[in-house]
Formats: sequence, structure tokens, C-alpha cells
Amino acid sequence: MPDAARPPRHVLILGGTTEARRLAARLAPEPAGAPEHAPAPEPALRVTTSLAGRVAAPRLPAGEVRIGGFGGPEGLARWLREHAVDALIDATHPFADTISHNAALAAATAHVPLLAVRRPGWVPGPGDAWHQVTSLDEAAAALPALGTRVFLTTGRMGLAHFAHLTGLWFLVRSVDAPEPPHPPRMEVLLDRGPFTVEGERALLRAHRIDVLVTKDSGAAATAAKLTAAREAGVPVVVVRRPPVPDGVPVVEGPEAAAEWLRGLFSAAGSH
Ligand code: NAP
Repeated sequence: MPDAARPPRHVLILGGTTEARRLAARLAPEPAGAPEHAPAPEPALRVTTSLAGRVAAPRLPAGEVRIGGFGGPEGLARWLREHAVDALIDATHPFADTISHNAALAAATAHVPLLAVRRPGWVPGPGDAWHQVTSLDEAAAALPALGTRVFLTTGRMGLAHFAHLTGLWFLVRSVDAPEPPHPPRMEVLLDRGPFTVEGERALLRAHRIDVLVTKDSGAAATAAKLTAAREAGVPVVVVRRPPVPDGVPVVEGPEAAAEWLRGLFSAAGSH
């Protein structure tokens, strides 16, 4: 039985991903009927999603939203305490390494249970010519030996790592326009997923792409480029993910995260 005197449990989701939006839609008390909203209602929770504020016009999740940095792990720990957060879910992008480490530190300081949501990474299949690297600098170093016309899909924030490659031409795809420093010879394509194999095929052909660079984001919405590259025999430089901070439990998606919350709150509620 819900306790009428107790305010709803407060869940803070660190977002900026499809998984975070899906989780908020699943948990938030008043779904507005958007297609991603889960049909099965969860017990009443207060759900806040935090966005970094990098994207000019973000897709807003259900529930409450706050935007902007917290001011490091101390600021996040303060926010958790001041807003009486009962559970923290790090559903940020697999490459958003700083906020994930901040979350681990802040959760420990504020004694708030923390869960990480990470979609599975991509795995190479037959016919894939992948060159796996661990950083954007390594990706840049690998490029001159692989091609001259590069499709760069690692986001606008890391372009400085490729700025010295004056002999290569880049097709840069990003949600918002990149700022310098960036490679001198480049064309920018402002777009955000989901992308189709047909569309990616056409891009590779139209721009005579001979090498693709991607992070191992693992998202279905952006996997079509890998299929198109395989078909065209285009090599792919894949930047591997940083590890999740030590000791933080990890699940693959929103359903498992909702399950974790149910377990957490039913265990706490029974005391
Ligand atoms: P990051 O390097 O890990 O974080 C840098 C700083 O940005 C953090 O220290 C924090 O500032 C602030 N921040 C990051 N995520 C935040 C959030 N959800 N809410 C409030 N503050 C946040 O992060 P990033 O790689 O720049 O990514 C920023 C956001 O974009 C993330 O939320 C991520 O989910 C999303 N995203 C990232 C990528 C990618 O490839 N990295 C791709 C798609 C989406 P303070 O220290 O001041 O708190």
C-alpha cells in the first residue's frame, strides 16, 4: 500500500540519450501520450531529468527537467541533498565520462544509490573492416593510412583532434554547427538520427567516402552507417568506450532500470 503521508520518491536521471528519455517516459507520473511512453504505469515517483545543455533545441523528456552543469561532483552531491533525491540514474551517453565519474563520487558522498544505464556496444561482423582505437587522437593518427575522404561522426566537440589533418577531406555530421578548431577541408551536415541504411549508402556514394570514424555508441538509431560501410568495403575507425566507474552497477536499458528502482524502493519501503 502506498504511504499517503510520504512524498513520492525522487529519481534524478542524468540524461541526454534516448534511453534516458525512455526511462523518464516510463517513470514520470503524468505521461502526455507521446509514442515512447510506456503503457504500464509505475508507482508514483517524482522524476527529474538533467541535461547538460549542449544541444540548442533538445528533445525534452517527460517529467521535470533541469538544464546545465552542477559544478563538479560537489555541486551534484549538493543538488542530490537539497532536492532530497532517493535514487540517481546515470543514463548519459557511454562517452560522457566526466559526468559518470562525478555521479559516482556524488552518490557516494550524498549516500544516494546509483545505477548506470548503458546500451550494449556494437560488435564487428563478417565483412567489417574495423580499426579499434581508444581515443580520438588515436583515431586521427590511424586515418592517413586508411583513406583521404573521411566521414566523421564522433560529434562536434572533438573536432580539434582532427584539425591538423590538412591533407584529408572531412564530411562532419553533427546536431549543432561545429566551432573552430576543426579540419580546414570539411563540409558540415547538420542532422540527428535515426538514420537509414539507404540514406547512409547515398551519403557514402555522393561524397566518395573512403573511411568512416565513429564512437562505439551502440545505438540502433546510428548503426546504419556501419551496415553501409560494410557493404561499400569502407574501413571504419571505431573509438572504444571508456569503462563505467568502478563499483557502479550497470543495466542495459530502461526496463531493467525501472526494475532496479522497484527493488530498491520496495526494499526500503518494507523497513
Ligand atoms: P562529460 O564530458 O561527461 O561532462 C562534462 C560536464 O558537463 C560535466 O562535468 C557536467 O558539468 C556537465 N554534464 C554532462 N552531462 C550532464 C547532464 N546530463 N546534466 C548536467 N550536467 C551535465 O559530458 P559530454 O560528453 O560533454 O556530454 C554532455 C551530455 O551530452 C551528456 O549528458 C550526454 O549524455 C550527452 N551526449 C554526449 C555524447 C558524447 O558523445 N559524449 C553523445 C550524445 C549525447 P558539471 O561538472 O558542471 O556538473
